Amino acid sequence: MDEKRAERIAAISAHCPTLYRKGYLKVTKGRAPPRRAIRIMCLHCCGWERAESSQCTAYGCPLWVYNPWRAEAEADVAPSGASSLNGEANSASQERPSDLGGGDGPGF
Ligand code: SF4
Repeated sequence: MDEKRAERIAAISAHCPTLYRKGYLKVTKGRAPPRRAIRIMCLHCCGWERAESSQCTAYGCPLWVYNPWRAEAEADVAPSGASSLNGEANSASQERPSDLGGGDGPGF
């Protein structure tokens, strides 16, 4: 890993909440599936605030349709029996904190 990238990752990691730090580092090392990288990116993008990410209105963002927190929030208000945007995003709500590298904390 080049020095500049390592420095940047260390800086972000230093400000990343403990709950997400392990997952963030795992993703930066390429040791996590792409959809987990999207979750981490959406959290990072919104100051590590899941609630903020779930309210994302950056409709032009290439990740918007994959933002699991937004899809999860929509599923919460959908009428019962309504289908989600896609199964992939919907499955995010069923993952445990340990799936993102956390494991001790309030959970997702
Ligand atoms: S979808 Fe929204 S929260 Fe996710 S990376 Fe794009 S702008 Fe950020």
